[in-house]
Amino acid sequence: MTRRAPRASIDPDTGKSWLRRALPLVKAHRALLITSLALSFAGLVVQVQIPNLLRIGIDRAVVERTAQLSTYVWWIAGLALLQGVINYLARLYLLRTAYEIEYDLRTIVYAHLVRMPFGFFDRVQSGELMSRSSSDIRAVQMYLAFGPSILVQCLIAVVAFGLMLSIDVPLAIVAMATMPVIGFLGVGMRKAVFPVSWLIQSRLAHLATVVDENIQGVRIVKAFAAEGRQLRTLGEAADRIRWAYLQDARIRSRWTPVLDNLPRLGLALVLLVGGIMVIRGGTTVGTIVAFNSYVLMLQPPFRLLGMMIMLGQRASASARRIYEILDTPSDVVDRPAPIEAGLRGEVAFEGVRFAYPNGTVALDGLDLRLRPGETVAVVGATGSGKSTLGRLLARFYDVTGGRIAIDGHDVRDLRLSSLREQVGIVPDEPFLFSLSIHDNIAYGRPAATRDEVVDAALAAGADGFVRELPQGYDTVVGERGYTLSGGQRQRVAIARALLVNPPILVLDDATSAIDVTVEQRIHHALSARMTGRTTLIVAHRLSTIGLAERVVLLAGGRVIADGTHASLLATEPRYAAVLATVAVP
Ligand code: ADP
Repeated sequence: MTRRAPRASIDPDTGKSWLRRALPLVKAHRALLITSLALSFAGLVVQVQIPNLLRIGIDRAVVERTAQLSTYVWWIAGLALLQGVINYLARLYLLRTAYEIEYDLRTIVYAHLVRMPFGFFDRVQSGELMSRSSSDIRAVQMYLAFGPSILVQCLIAVVAFGLMLSIDVPLAIVAMATMPVIGFLGVGMRKAVFPVSWLIQSRLAHLATVVDENIQGVRIVKAFAAEGRQLRTLGEAADRIRWAYLQDARIRSRWTPVLDNLPRLGLALVLLVGGIMVIRGGTTVGTIVAFNSYVLMLQPPFRLLGMMIMLGQRASASARRIYEILDTPSDVVDRPAPIEAGLRGEVAFEGVRFAYPNGTVALDGLDLRLRPGETVAVVGATGSGKSTLGRLLARFYDVTGGRIAIDGHDVRDLRLSSLREQVGIVPDEPFLFSLSIHDNIAYGRPAATRDEVVDAALAAGADGFVRELPQGYDTVVGERGYTLSGGQRQRVAIARALLVNPPILVLDDATSAIDVTVEQRIHHALSARMTGRTTLIVAHRLSTIGLAERVVLLAGGRVIADGTHASLLATEPRYAAVLATVAVP
């Protein structure tokens, strides 16, 4: 099945109300929505006829005995059937509209999320994003699709009232008397319940976080025998939810009986006034029965009014959270007419300054040049800015000062997709998807053949252990699959980068969990496979550093020494000092 593009998008004008900004989404599906509304209105018109037929049937066929009873019975049964069919279709179309809108919203939000720069994900918690992209979308969708439908349902009141007026004016007014009170109370109840239901939502979210942490961190919890403490935290969260639910129950049980019993009061009023009128000969028994049906028929729509207000409040809050994502521009984007060039791999950091979105200065006037095909090791204390180099080179962030050029092109002038294809980055804690090893390695080139995948795995030193797995390259790994060791995951990630065969490769502590002999083999395979590749290695191990032709020493976000390992060791006391603290023999 192919994916359809969203039909519309959210109006980018932030000055408009949330509803008006969302309107294009509704308009994109107006054919469906209008069909559903028209059908539900038709259903209501049919429904309103039934009590009237009941009235005529009782008066003519039962009381006066001037007409055939079966005629009315058949008519009412027929109309009920018709109404059933119409309601079925109306509901079907309404739900289709709702899910189409939800699909569009989901696609829009997700498409925006994947384009967001790294800085955004530094700031926003993933759990929060999950909730925004599920429950918030649902809340907005409900209001957009069901709101108009509830309004149409309320129209029944107008139609029914008109019909009642045409039958009997005073009795019509008596029958309608309790409706405004029901509407008013329905709204009142929702308003009273609303803050509590918010409280429940946020406390449930908090509980989910506690549970999530317990599951994710279960090894730590057990290692520190902290089960009791965790249970207490969970108990407290659960207790707060119980309290909020009890408040909710208290409010509801105060309002619901009143709301449920008001229609009965309406029935009594109709019987009282109608009864007196029948006795005095002003109206008929059939009219009392019909008006009783109307009283019962009318109260659901009035109660829905309260629901509509609640949906509206929830949707408006949810929409604000969704728009917050959509209104955050992606600052790392292609410039107009970006350059798309095959790169040789000459890298130049020129006076690069960079601060993370939270203000931490990571690079402070860094100069570094790599010749095409050169292998350079970056050494420095924790926090000296080593990892930041790779992130800037692949433009996960943009520099805040200076520039980074590849083959003389500022990376901001290169087409982003082409840049990222040509700069491969292997992090120290790589992420594997819940896919087979084959698919994980082929992630950057899904069309790769098994031979190519195996070839990359061989160079990354992964082929050996992969062949010993239960299903070899088809073994599913990651969250929902076979658990690999840290070193095995690193090797899969190196194979993933090699398969794309980028002219520039950044190994960010990418072999830290691989034992030294295997690492040596990987590096030999790497250098044999491609001599022209520019490689930047963030290294902690003397064995790794030894593989590089050149070593640069970083401190405080700049290069403070540059040379071969041997020359630095001999001439640069700060190099020896850093090695003594960070290097693993
Ligand atoms: P190294 O790799 O040398 O340990 P990094 O390049 O990871 O250093 O980090 C350089 C500085 O930037 C450190 O002070 C670190 O705390 C900070 N830093 C790294 N990543 C982030 C981030 N995502 N948000 C904010 N600060 C960060």
